[in-house]
Amino acid sequence: MFRIKDLDLAEKFVFLRVDFNVPLDDEGKIRDDTRIKAALPTLKYLLEQNTRVVVASHLGRPKGQFDPKLSMKPVAQRLSELISEDVRLAPDVIGEEVNRLKERLKERQVLVLENLRFYEGEKKNDPEFAQNLAKGIDYYINDAFGACHRAHASIVGIPRYVKKSAAGFLVTEELEYLNKAIYTPQKPYTVILGGAKVSDKIPIIQNLMNKADNILIGGAMAYTFFAAQGCDVGRSLVEKDKKDLALQVLNRAKENDVSFYLPLDHIVAAQMVSGQETRTVEDFPIPSDMMALDIGPKTIRTYAYSIAQAKTILWNGPMGVFEIDEFSQGTMKIAEAVAESDALSIVGGGDSVAAVYKAGVSDKISHISTGGGASLEYIANGTLPGIEALTEKNNDND
Ligand code: ADP
Ligand code: MG
Repeated sequence: MFRIKDLDLAEKFVFLRVDFNVPLDDEGKIRDDTRIKAALPTLKYLLEQNTRVVVASHLGRPKGQFDPKLSMKPVAQRLSELISEDVRLAPDVIGEEVNRLKERLKERQVLVLENLRFYEGEKKNDPEFAQNLAKGIDYYINDAFGACHRAHASIVGIPRYVKKSAAGFLVTEELEYLNKAIYTPQKPYTVILGGAKVSDKIPIIQNLMNKADNILIGGAMAYTFFAAQGCDVGRSLVEKDKKDLALQVLNRAKENDVSFYLPLDHIVAAQMVSGQETRTVEDFPIPSDMMALDIGPKTIRTYAYSIAQAKTILWNGPMGVFEIDEFSQGTMKIAEAVAESDALSIVGGGDSVAAVYKAGVSDKISHISTGGGASLEYIANGTLPGIEALTEKNNDND
């Protein structure tokens, strides 16, 4: 993969793909600008090289057509507040007017394109759309780690139509940390997995099976593993069609000599809403009108012990319904345990990252991934479409 520093960018015209898919409130104001700030090192570096920069991102899900609610206007505004350079917003993504604005752009000026997903060609990776995006551009830089698992025009299409493409600083840093967890983890290596669906996490479990020493399971996904073994889990979430797969995973864990932990006790309630009466249950059956919504105190202690021993920790997926206070203890305590450990700790996944912030321990985590789906897919497959597009064989068009 080419990196930004491999290219001679001085005075060139650069297309910078970023992940500015920020959360907006009802009034269209930016609720959290972390993603904008995360791309600033790359943008500032580009401007120091006296480049002209076109910045582009998707925002929300506009369904292939113009949607004023999902305009990049607030993003461009925020960006211009954050960097003291000249930032303009294009009225469109491609087309004659955008091309004119590109031509008029001066060194150290930034042109933010409208939302890439205003065009169907983005998600379809339409070659003509990609070619239009690349019009007038010398070099392409991808710093949109959170979108690298998408084979979209602005991720895998553009590199074919520019001289060279490379990864920005954010993408490079993400890969450095994730590579440590995949290829050279210091032992003991503890992987914590939770969240809603076992199906989302099976590929990652399978890939880490022969690398991790301990796999700690929490969240709703635990109950598919229990149900597969014939336990009565009450009304807990179970993916019935994934039971066979769950059994296969349990068998592989035995063969691979990895310690595979399922919760030892459960916080249960009748419904997944706040204000419920909760109970701690140690043994099955879980009462037939109850569902397990968090890990219990015994599980927390056991998992925290494993976390304290670890030299490498990878965490994806909350231990319970952490959005609701009554069911947030498991996730909060695990977050604290990870923060207290001096291991290399990596947290990925939108909700897991939110949980780490909620626990107030974000500054004690070695690396918080900006890409949920992308980090999972990278760990599972060892590469991503957007990374492949930056390799020598795919992008040297000089
Ligand atoms: P991430 O975004 O970190 O990858 P997921 O999206 O896989 O995590 O899972 C997060 C969701 O899982 C949260 O909304 C949380 O409420 C839910 N969840 C966790 N545990 C349970 C449970 N026991 N029952 C139902 N939902 C759960
Ligand atoms: Mg999620």
